[in-house]
Amino acid sequence: MFSDLRPLPLDPLWAIQNAHRDDPRPHKLNLGIGIYRDAHGHTPVLSAVQHAERHLADAAPSKVYRPLSGNADFTAAMTRLLLGDHPPTLDRAVTVQTVGGTGALRTLADLIASAHPDATVWTSNPGYANHHPLMRAAGLLTAEYPWQDDGTGHTDLRPILEALGHAQPGDILLVQGCCHNPTGIDLSEESWHALAQHCQGRGLIPLVDMAYQGLGQGLAEDAQGLRIMTRHLGTVLIAASCSKNMGLYCERTGTATVLVPQPSEKAVVLSVLEGIARRTYSMPPEHGAAIAAALLHDPEPWHQELDTMRDRIRTIREALGHALRDAGAPHALLSTEHHQGMFSLLPLTPHQMDTLREQHAIYGTREGRINIAGIPDDAVTPLAQALVAVYGR
Ligand code: PMP
Repeated sequence: MFSDLRPLPLDPLWAIQNAHRDDPRPHKLNLGIGIYRDAHGHTPVLSAVQHAERHLADAAPSKVYRPLSGNADFTAAMTRLLLGDHPPTLDRAVTVQTVGGTGALRTLADLIASAHPDATVWTSNPGYANHHPLMRAAGLLTAEYPWQDDGTGHTDLRPILEALGHAQPGDILLVQGCCHNPTGIDLSEESWHALAQHCQGRGLIPLVDMAYQGLGQGLAEDAQGLRIMTRHLGTVLIAASCSKNMGLYCERTGTATVLVPQPSEKAVVLSVLEGIARRTYSMPPEHGAAIAAALLHDPEPWHQELDTMRDRIRTIREALGHALRDAGAPHALLSTEHHQGMFSLLPLTPHQMDTLREQHAIYGTREGRINIAGIPDDAVTPLAQALVAVYGR
């Protein structure tokens, strides 16, 4: 049965993980995978999560199967976190629990494939490495629009609209809501409005990927673009992840939300989403959703810890900026200061990223992405010096 199979190439991110693990140099620095680390390089469980877990252990709720759509307290609270307290929008939303943000993307891809199998999904280039594979796995076609700095720290909208000029009505615009992976550059408020109008005019349906809400400017601020889309458009799809902003990575906790033009259409969409869950994994895992529901129900302690994570990322960006200037860095390297969220895309070639790894034991992706949120305090200066040594002044 398996004789014709050929092994797939190792995912580049896991290849970086393995190479870093096997590197004997004590000062090695792993900036490959997107994980938040504190000043000492650790990723502790949030105190709010520990508190919720203790409470859950004491309450020992039964482990009977949950509904196909998941934990209702969790999905209701996530819908409000994403859409804000705006009853007319909330009334049009259907949300199901998913296996992380990845599961949300795949669930929505399957929904698109059921409703409109000929749709092309437009994703950014550069963009999240798994967007194409996830959409194609559902049988959908994919195409790309460019995502580049306009010189002010925002994304240049003009080439995006130019590329989307080739999209057909009913095509899907897959766009990251905030803290763009891998570039760290986001759309301005003005551009979000223009993009929403473009979608409305051309009949495109946005699929907003919210994997980092709260790690850019704040929970509400990071949802601004999404909320502009939901106020302008009848149909919006949203994939959300609790992996980063709650530190629930391995609990695989997320949601898929579908905004329909009329509340009367919710029942059919929910039944199709439940059907997708049923034929994929049946009922979603409860633990992460129960924790997230507790955090969202009593949000203050979680907000404090999220503020700390966001402030640390901002502080690291500033410190890296200072260290780069001290090392005589050229302007091109200093853009990391203005980026949002966990990642920045450096202007280094794959060959220069190899040199960074071979000569300085610093691991990023070959495309130049580094995880700013993974830089321990004492690594800032050596990193800046290594970047200048490899890139040049
Ligand atoms: N979308 C984007 C843009 C991501 O960077 C990621 C990875 N963090 C995901 C979705 C998937 O999130 P999760 O780890 O919750 O599956």
